[in-house]
Amino acid sequence: MLHREFTFTEDIDYGQGQHDKIDQAGKQRSAVQAAAAEETTPGKMKEKEIETTDYLEEFKPSAPISTGTLPRHGNRPPKTNAHGHIVDVDENEAVPSAPPLELMDHVVGYESVSFDAISVPPPFFEAESPDAEISNRDILPNCPQVTEQDARTALLSLVAQHCCYGKDVAKEMAITKINYSSAFHYQLHSFTEKRETSWAYSPYGGGEVDGVENGAPPLPWEIECYPGTLFEDEVKLIPVPHTSSVKSCHRCKGGGSLLCAECHGKGWVRCLSCHGDGWSASTSGYKERCFYCHSSTHGHGRQDCLKCNAKGRVPCPTCDNYGQIQCFIQLTISWKVNSAEHIVERLSLPEDLVKSVSGQVAFEEEAQQVLPIGHFPDETINMASTQIVHAHAQAFSDQKLIRQKQVVRIIPVTEINYRWKNKNNVFYVFGFENRAYAPDYPQKCCCGCTIL
Ligand SMILES: [Zn+2]
Ligand SMILES: [Zn+2]
Ligand SMILES: [Zn+2]
Repeated sequence: MLHREFTFTEDIDYGQGQHDKIDQAGKQRSAVQAAAAEETTPGKMKEKEIETTDYLEEFKPSAPISTGTLPRHGNRPPKTNAHGHIVDVDENEAVPSAPPLELMDHVVGYESVSFDAISVPPPFFEAESPDAEISNRDILPNCPQVTEQDARTALLSLVAQHCCYGKDVAKEMAITKINYSSAFHYQLHSFTEKRETSWAYSPYGGGEVDGVENGAPPLPWEIECYPGTLFEDEVKLIPVPHTSSVKSCHRCKGGGSLLCAECHGKGWVRCLSCHGDGWSASTSGYKERCFYCHSSTHGHGRQDCLKCNAKGRVPCPTCDNYGQIQCFIQLTISWKVNSAEHIVERLSLPEDLVKSVSGQVAFEEEAQQVLPIGHFPDETINMASTQIVHAHAQAFSDQKLIRQKQVVRIIPVTEINYRWKNKNNVFYVFGFENRAYAPDYPQKCCCGCTIL
């Protein structure tokens, strides 16, 4: 009998302890520094495609192009600072990675936010009772068995894929014994949600700013946002409502432009053709104006700097020439499928081959939190399930478990013993595709190549 009654008597800790630690809204503010914040450079953040939900439309930071009156990469004159001086920041100067943190606004609930992403653990949430969703735990009947003819056909198709395998073995072999077996493939997929906050900025060229005067910003887990599809990796970047403010650009110090690195702010470079002389010798021996620099903006012997269009300054890339940036707290929501698996295979078929073929789905279950299975006829699978389910309950303590799915597949594996030219040998046929695996195929050409 394949079926065994399942009881819910196991003493299972579903990681409830982890929630006790974070069960107060106030405590979620004491966020943990994310260990691996891969895209933390704020400059890069704005390059990412930002998806916004309808709910957030109104909070979108105004893009600098929205003004329509100013050219995006114009050649506006450099702005002056509070003392009326033009701020000269060289393009070659080390680029500050972000504005100074002490200039950022104080936002209630976001006190520890920096320019690096910080993971915010979810507040305690009530998990659905696991048994409420668990359906039928019956095991499906056994897989179909391969016949001698199936085995021979499978071996022949394997031979056809290898240029140096001879067909004779597959045609002439005498099958002496067939052993039927099954491999089991257990998989657990945990779909988790992680929320991280960081300061971010974008060029500011005018438009509405959704600042703290519009109301108290919602806490990271109070912002409603859902994944597009369950069990699919996805990242959404959301500006936290009411956290925006306008600051002077840290790169150009508010000037909007930088000194051109090519001409060092002069707007011209020495003409290479006449070496700065302004004259060139004609064939007849008379001097005439150098063809290359005679109409230059900055006089003879000088060529206009192409990089800055002879202006000596280039637009600041950080603020897009506006001199101002809009700073806001960005919420990064990452949904991820975390998978773990275990394979039981008692013949000598490599595990990767077991994973690569289809089989019978013997058991499939989805719930907010699944219970380990204990009813599968193979005890190793039950043990693996217990271990993996518990490991996942511990592994994502700073994330929210949205949904879990566990599957057991039965993959038919047949061992075929045969005799060819007075020698005994063995090969395997596995999966619903009847794929063959013959590691010691006796009729390979001398080069031993196994190119497909
Ligand atoms: Zn230049
Ligand atoms: Zn010249
Ligand atoms: Zn700037």
